[in-house]
Amino acid sequence: MTRPGISGVTAATLGDWLEARGEPAFRVRQIQDAIWRAQAGSIGDVVTLPTALRAALDESFRWDTLGSNERVVTDGGSTEKVLHRLADGVSIESVLMHYPARPGQRERHTLCISSQAGCAVGCPFCATGELGFGRDLETAEILDQVRLAARTLAADGRRLTNIVFMGMGEPLLNLDRVLEAVDALNDPKRFGLGARHITVSTSGVVPGIRRLTALGPQFTLAISLHAARDALRDVLVPLNRRWPVGEVVAAARDHARATGRRVSYEVTMISGVNDTDIDADAMAGLLANDHVHVNLIPMNPVAHTPWTASPIPVIERFAARLRAEGIAVTIRRNRGQEVGAACGQLAAERAGEPPAPAVALRRRRLEAASAAALRGERSAEPLPAGVAE
Ligand code: SAH
Ligand code: SF4
Repeated sequence: MTRPGISGVTAATLGDWLEARGEPAFRVRQIQDAIWRAQAGSIGDVVTLPTALRAALDESFRWDTLGSNERVVTDGGSTEKVLHRLADGVSIESVLMHYPARPGQRERHTLCISSQAGCAVGCPFCATGELGFGRDLETAEILDQVRLAARTLAADGRRLTNIVFMGMGEPLLNLDRVLEAVDALNDPKRFGLGARHITVSTSGVVPGIRRLTALGPQFTLAISLHAARDALRDVLVPLNRRWPVGEVVAAARDHARATGRRVSYEVTMISGVNDTDIDADAMAGLLANDHVHVNLIPMNPVAHTPWTASPIPVIERFAARLRAEGIAVTIRRNRGQEVGAACGQLAAERAGEPPAPAVALRRRRLEAASAAALRGERSAEPLPAGVAE
């Protein structure tokens, strides 16, 4: 069995491990400081610990669960995508985005992290969805994306200010690990980032949302809405056939009431598919009485779909119809930098080109399904494997 990643090990487990070796309890704090404060890149760098203890730690735990890290810098240096290869050869991605200071707002460095390798939900506009499901990430594999980014920033005297679970995977389908990771990120003795600076995005796993509500506010919840009508959302977010949009919004509403925290909705705007007046009015009707914030994001181009981003004037018209009902809306124009849109694509590129007939079939199916959805017909497609529990 591979050794567990040390960043995912709790203080209690670490304490037991140390005690069994006759080490004093204060070593827990020293090890945590080395992981999270000093941001040591390897166990060899942890000079605060005796050599023998370092060797023993190395035998029991992996200091870093990310193997090779391939970095691609885009948008004139403001976006850094990193493709991480894990011990078993699967690839995941994280994206670091730099936002300069603006009047009234300090500079921000936001990291978009993955919670699974691939994704079972299979949204057809998403590069990760096209890859299919690989596996859940371990807690340490989630956290080590954060440690690497923090180390990269620290080299230039900068600090990570925000973390969003908008990379590969559906966080609420790997919720135990995601909650452990959030615990470590929140914990003042470990990463120490405030809950307000962490966002978890979900495609609408209703039991997961309910579980979060019961736990209380730990981060901002973002819901990937994309469409308010079931017929269309069935196509764009296949999970909708399990938990229809009305149930998702009801769970989000209860979450906002119980936690006092506003829920965000994300809408990827796809030209001629979900950007019509009918869709805007359906969304306005669905959200009008809720304390929400809607982000409209032009679809990032993804290979093998017949779809493109809605033009900005169309998005503005859509936004105006929501605002007319009193809904707070932001249009994210800066596509290259956009959080979710940036993730999963490197891994998809590296996965190689599927055969041309498969691509053609996929395009035809999507065109037919979205045309049927525009007519209000619900899809008869089966649920993707892995989300039908
Ligand atoms: N699985 C979760 C979190 C990861 S996806 C979820 O779906 O919410 C993060 C965000 O990126 C989601 O809002 C998703 O809809 C969005 N996204 C995926 N592909 C995109 C694309 N091609 N263009 C724009 N946004 C995209
Ligand atoms: Fe999965 Fe989110 Fe992509 Fe949908 S948008 S396939 S839920 S990662």
